[in-house]
Amino acid sequence: MTKYKIAVIPGDGIGIEVMDEALKVLDVLQENNPDFEIEREQFPWNSEYYLQHGKMMPDDALQILQSFDAILFGAIGDTRVPDDITIWQLIMPIRKQFQQYVNFRPVKSLPGIRSPLSDGENIDFVIFRENAEGEYSNSGGRLYDSQDSELAVQNTIMTRGGIERIARAASDYAVRAGKTKITSATKSNAITHSMKLWDEHVKRIIQDEYKNLKLESYYIDALVAYFVERPQTFEIVVATNLFGDILSDLGSGIVGGLGLSPSANINPEKNFPSMFEPVHGSAPDIAGKGIANPIAQIWSTALMLQHLGRPDLSDMIMKAIELVLLEGKTKTADIGGNATTVQMGSAIAEKIREQYDTIRLGNKAYEFKQ
Ligand code: ATP
Repeated sequence: MTKYKIAVIPGDGIGIEVMDEALKVLDVLQENNPDFEIEREQFPWNSEYYLQHGKMMPDDALQILQSFDAILFGAIGDTRVPDDITIWQLIMPIRKQFQQYVNFRPVKSLPGIRSPLSDGENIDFVIFRENAEGEYSNSGGRLYDSQDSELAVQNTIMTRGGIERIARAASDYAVRAGKTKITSATKSNAITHSMKLWDEHVKRIIQDEYKNLKLESYYIDALVAYFVERPQTFEIVVATNLFGDILSDLGSGIVGGLGLSPSANINPEKNFPSMFEPVHGSAPDIAGKGIANPIAQIWSTALMLQHLGRPDLSDMIMKAIELVLLEGKTKTADIGGNATTVQMGSAIAEKIREQYDTIRLGNKAYEFKQ
C-alpha cells in the first residue's frame, strides 16, 4: 500500500475550476487501486485570502506544507491584487524555500491537436528551467521615486552551484530517458558576466560527467526561431529562469496552447515537497465560465504521480488524455470544441475507468481459462 499526503492549493480563477477535474481523476485512480491512497488537504490560499488577511498565505504556511509529500497547485492571479504580490508571496516562497530548483516542462504533440505550425507534428522535448535564482532573484531596488532622477536596479544572480545542479538534473533525465542531446539557451555575447558563467559550467558538467551526451548551445534569439522552424530536433533544453519561462510558453504555443501544458517544480533530492502546476495562469478572461481546458492540470497531476514513484498511474492518465483527444468528441474551446471543463475532466476520468474495466475483464478471462 502506498499512501501519499498531498497539499492542494487551487488558487484563483480557472485554477479552482481545473483543480476539481484533477481531483476527480485522482479519485478514480484511488477507487481502482486498492494499493494506492491519497490523503489530501486543501488550502484556501489565494487572492481572496489576501484581501481578507493582508497576505497570500499564513506565516507558518511553509512549515505546514513541509509535512506533505507533494503540492498540487492550480494557478494564481486576480485583477484586484497586483501580480508581484500574488507571485512573490505565494509561488516564489514555495519554489525557493523548498529548493525546487528544477522546473520541468514537457512540450509534446498530442493526438488530435493541431499545431499552429504547418509542420507541427511529432514534437517531443522537455525544457529544464532553472527555477531558484538567475533573473528572478528579486535582488535590487529603486531610488528617487517619481523624481526625474529615479532609477531601478535589478540584479541577476547566477551561482556556479545553481548552474551545476540544473545542468546535472537535465543530463540525468536525458540519460534515464535515453536521449542523446542537450540544448543550452544562452546570450553570453551580450550578457557577458552571468551568461558566460552559465555557458562555462553547463559545458563543463556535460562534457566531464555525461560523455555520451552531445551539447549544443544557441543564443536565445536564434533558439526561438529554431523552436518554430524545426521543433522536432530538440530533446532536452536547459535554460535560465527567464529564458526557460519564455521558451516554455512558446513551447506550449507550438503544440496547441497553454491549456495543454503541464509543469513540475522539483526538488530532486526530495528534502522538500515538490510542486506540480499547469504552465498557464488564472486566465481572468475565461475564469468563472466553466470553459477552461483541464488537461494541463491533469497532466501536472500525472507528473506528480511519476515523481511519487507511481509511473503506472501516471501512464494511465496520459493514456486516457490521448484516448479522449484521439476520439475527438470532447474538446474545450481552446482546442476547437465546445465542451465544458467538467465534461472534459469527466471524459478523461471515464477513459481511466474503462482502462481498468478492460484490465479486470482480461484478468477474469484469464482466470476462466485457468
Ligand atoms: P495570470 O495573470 O494569472 O498569469 P494571464 O491571463 O496573464 O493570467 P494565462 O492565465 O496564462 O495568463 O492565460 C493566457 C491566455 O491563455 C488567456 O487568453 C487564457 O484564456 C488562455 N488560457 C490559459 N489557460 C487556459 C486553459 N486551461 N484553457 C483555455 N484557455 C486557457
